[in-house]
Amino acid sequence: MFNKILIANRGEIALRIIRACKELGIKTVAVYSEADINSLHVRLADESVCVGSALSKDSYLKMGNILSAADVTGAEAIHPGFGFLSENHVFAEMVEEHGITFIGPKPEHVKIMGDKILAKDAMRKFGVPLVPGSPGKIETISQAKDLAPSIGYPMLIKAACGGGGKGMQIVHTEHQLERAVSIAQMEARANFGDNSVFIEKFLQNPRHIEIQILADQHGNCIHLGERDCSLQRRHQKIWEEAPSPVVTEKMRSELGTICVNAMKQLGYRGVGTMEFLYENEQFYFIEMNTRIQVEHPVTEMVTGVDLIKEQIKVAAGEKLTMTQEDIRIKGHAIECRINAEDPETFMPSPGTITFYHPPGGLGVRIDSHIYDGYTIPPYYDSLLGKLIVWAPKRSDCLTRLSSALDEYVIDGVKTLIPLHKRLTLHPAIIKGKFDIKWLETKFL
Ligand code: ADP
Repeated sequence: MFNKILIANRGEIALRIIRACKELGIKTVAVYSEADINSLHVRLADESVCVGSALSKDSYLKMGNILSAADVTGAEAIHPGFGFLSENHVFAEMVEEHGITFIGPKPEHVKIMGDKILAKDAMRKFGVPLVPGSPGKIETISQAKDLAPSIGYPMLIKAACGGGGKGMQIVHTEHQLERAVSIAQMEARANFGDNSVFIEKFLQNPRHIEIQILADQHGNCIHLGERDCSLQRRHQKIWEEAPSPVVTEKMRSELGTICVNAMKQLGYRGVGTMEFLYENEQFYFIEMNTRIQVEHPVTEMVTGVDLIKEQIKVAAGEKLTMTQEDIRIKGHAIECRINAEDPETFMPSPGTITFYHPPGGLGVRIDSHIYDGYTIPPYYDSLLGKLIVWAPKRSDCLTRLSSALDEYVIDGVKTLIPLHKRLTLHPAIIKGKFDIKWLETKFL
């Protein structure tokens, strides 16, 4: 096992990783930007190193600075968390070349899954069902026009290296195609430095359902069931649950087996999430995330497995100590993302927290880095933390969530708390009847 890990991240996920390390008896090194000097992750880590100024590109994304910080502190491994460098295969390679362990999959797998075209190619070979679409990259408009009849409108033009819901264009008719392809290419180049785009059938009313994977370096791989992340705005998740209200044990076992078989054939290691859209009783793979995800706690709550500790253990070369049969889904968990955003316009709301009172009680978990008097810097994403609630049944979970949200006070900035509260009371949510469009088209 490692003696010391550097955490190349900030905010609640940095805290979450520090907590896991403490339980494993591992020393931690926090890195921080000048804007984060008062952050909790800096205070709770054993050591901390400033890696640059406020903008992420000058600090959390500065690979050289992060590696130097690992060198000078003698960290044996780097945990990238999510976002920032977590899915950067060049960083993963650099880390390993320095003789430091990258707590994640092999760099080549980070690379394949970071490109949705390569990822879909790999999954096609392993028999994973895909959203119908172009066989690869679209280079010309005429190529797109030729493919359109076999895919069928509406279609989605997607950036191969896209993320965070960026670089997607919906096309309803042929005359919108040319413009959509060029906008998608421009957005792809501007955001991801690569203008490769491809086409997918635009599914009208799917749910977003994803499978959590855990694999060691000895060929053992299991899945930990699904998460339903259909409640989204601008293709970004804000509420996640496990299990999905529409997935039966049989469906879970079948889809989970497909995922595990694919990961075994690939030789994948670490944690990962295979994301699917689900419509008309069919699952369609859309992408894989090769890192821990924001919504991992709901899986932890229903399985009892600490995913970050497992991730660190398998990175250190340990064998999985659990088998597929050991994984039992118990009860129901819901996570609400508490963003510093206006609950109606979703505009970011940075500022100082003038009063903070988190909820508590049985089955109530808060993963957050904020505190009374904390000033939210405007430079990073707006996630202040997550409220995760567990109960034996989904209906009890919603009741518990509703009262936890009533208790939750964050003064000084706007947050999504009022939106989540309204969601807990809505009949469609209570019935579990929603898809990825529901929040934007039927609720807001
Ligand atoms: P990103 O990497 O930007 O998160 P994804 O491919 O994971 O992109 O898609 C993000 C979200 O966009 C999905 O959860 C879903 O809401 C929507 N989406 C993606 N592909 C499709 C599709 N083919 N049809 C309909 N919606 C889609």
